[in-house]
This record gives sequence, C-alpha cells and structure tokens, in this order.
Amino acid sequence: MKCIRIGFIGTGFQGRDLIRRLAEKESYVKVTAVSDIDRESAQETADLYGLKVYATGQELIASQEVDAVAVTSWGETHEEYVLQAIAHNKPVFCEKPLATTREGCMKIVKAELDAGKKYVQVGFMRRFDRRYQDLKKVLDSKEAGNILLMHCAHRNKEVGATYTSDMVVTDMMVHEIDIVRWLTGKEIMAVQILKPKSSIHANQNTNFPLYGIFELEDGTIVDVEANAAAYFGYEVTCEVVGENAVVSLPQMNPVTVKAKNKKEEFLPSLWTERFDQAYEDEILAWAESLKKGKADGPDSFDGYMAAVCTDACLQSLHEGGRILTDKMERPNLFIK
Ligand code: NAP
Repeated sequence: MKCIRIGFIGTGFQGRDLIRRLAEKESYVKVTAVSDIDRESAQETADLYGLKVYATGQELIASQEVDAVAVTSWGETHEEYVLQAIAHNKPVFCEKPLATTREGCMKIVKAELDAGKKYVQVGFMRRFDRRYQDLKKVLDSKEAGNILLMHCAHRNKEVGATYTSDMVVTDMMVHEIDIVRWLTGKEIMAVQILKPKSSIHANQNTNFPLYGIFELEDGTIVDVEANAAAYFGYEVTCEVVGENAVVSLPQMNPVTVKAKNKKEEFLPSLWTERFDQAYEDEILAWAESLKKGKADGPDSFDGYMAAVCTDACLQSLHEGGRILTDKMERPNLFIK
C-alpha cells in the first residue's frame, strides 16, 4: 500500500505531541511535512523527524507531496486551513475548535455537504478515552434505564495568568458539551451559566469556577462544574443518574495507599497525564480512517454544535439567564 503523507500545520505543544505519537509508530501513514508561522519552531520539529518545512500552511496544503493535513495551529486559523484542505480534496484532522465562530463551522459543514463527502475529524479526544468508552457501553446497554441527570466536573489544577472566564467555557466546558452529546446521543437545547463566588486561586477579574446547567432535548438535566483553579490536581468526573442505576466514570488509578491513618490515591497534575492514552488512540484512529479513505470520529457537525453551545454559554455568562441553543437537525451526510 502506498504510504499516506501527512502535513502538520502548527508545531506548538499539541502539534509536536501528535507528530511524536505518529512518528513512534511504524505505519502506512507518515508525517512528512510541517509549517508554522513560527519558522524556528517548524524547523526544530522538522529536524527531529526529518520533515520538509513549508513557508505557509497554504503551500503545505496545496503540495503534491502531502496527502492529508493536520491543523494544530492556533484556533483562529483553523477555519481557513480546513476549508482549503477540503477544496484540495484532502482529509483533515483539526484540533478543537473547528472554527472560532458558529458561522465558520457552518461554512465547513456546507463545504462537506457540497462535496457530498466527509473530510474532517475534530480533536474531541475524550471520545477516545477508554474510561468514557466503558461508561458509554454501560449507558448504551440500558442497564441504568433512561438517563435522568448527569453531574460533571472538570477541574484544572491551575492555569496561566492570561486565562479568562470565557476560556473556561471555550477551552474547558467545550469538552463536557461534546462528551455529553456523545454519551447520550441527545442535543443540548438550553444552557445557563451561573457564577459562584470566585476562588482565591482565580485570576483577577475572572470567575473560577463556573457552574453550567445544560438541558437536553429529552429532558435530561446536566450540571457541569468547570474550575480552572482547583488547586489540588487535575480531575474529570461524570456521574450519570439513570432510572435504575447510578453509573460513574472510572477514575485514573485504582491504586490507593493506606498509611498513617490516611488513605491516599494518585491524582494527575495535568490533562496530558489523564488523557495521554486518549490522545494516542485519537490520532491513531485518524490514521486508520486515512487507510480506509473514510472520515470517522467527531465530525464537523459536532464541531458546529460545540460552537452553537459554547456561544449560548458565553451569552449566558455575560448576560445571565437561560439561553436556547437554536439547534439544527444533523444532516444525512453526518448520520453515522
Ligand atoms: P501553541 O503551543 O500555542 O501552538 C500553536 C502554534 O500555532 C504556535 O507555534 C503558533 O505560532 C502557531 N500558529 C499561530 N498562527 C499560525 C498560522 N496562521 N499558521 C501556522 N501556525 C500558526 O498551542 P497548542 O496548545 O499547541 O494548541 C493548538 C490547538 O490545539 C488549539 O486550537 C488548542 O485549542 C488545541 N488543543 C487541544 C487540546 C485538546 O485537549 N483537544 C489540548 C491542547 C490544545 P506562534 O506561537 O508564533 O503564534
């Protein structure tokens, strides 16, 4: 089989991590090209893995030597690169967000509808997390009966000084938005964001934590605590209350240490530790989809719905109150 050549646009933290994961596997896909607005960063990555550097993302996408594109540059740049990849008939992995506006996401959905083909996998890596997959298996088995409530928490130990309350929604809560849609198969119809009193560990002029309430189309209510300054460590929890059972997301490490009248359990510091395997499985699943010639996983409609819901959350954060999400039916092309 002919090797599939991948070009990465964006060689920052996330780009380098995914390039390393692909480079470490002997495979029919091979990262061969990179581009970054920071030429030095692109060159450093290229030197590590013997890659060709392109001066711009546009040149990389247009190149005859690149068969598929991964967009891991900064969020604002995603829309243009993804649309260009589709126009060049090339499959594309795009880190979240698919685009920074719902209109931008819709342009990508429309480009795929016009082409009559799916090209895009969006980087919602939690769907590849084996613990979330186990949770979904139990929910799909209907052992718990209909889902009534979900309690979710997303706790970052700490964040940089420039992190804002808006980013708690767009960077953190967006993962709960996607995973709740995926776990339940239901759309979010309305959201409300409440601002509890802010932690002493919060950045200036921010509200950490935020508390979100999502109403799903079947009446399920989901509450989400998103805390960018949880201080004690990194943690993601999800407890699903069904008619017959309560089902919980398994935690990181079952090993506990009992000593000196205390019971201790390991907690990670960062999301990279908690979701290490998920990032690996996500990018390898994309590689597998390239082999099959069929895009799989979270698609551009999921990217669009995430933007619709984060917009509604931001509106509630700034203006208060319950906001309807103005959801759209999933087009046939995106029905799995
Ligand atoms: P980062 O370390 O800042 O890397 C982004 C890179 O893109 C930087 O080297 C930046 O250069 C470059 N860049 C900016 N504009 C560009 C353009 N027009 N063309 C080409 N390159 C450009 O950020 P990151 O943490 O890797 O995040 C990248 C993306 O991954 C973001 O969308 C983020 O939301 C996403 N992400 C997702 C997860 C997840 O859990 N799924 C986790 C982390 C990140 P300069 O530094 O010179 O601007």
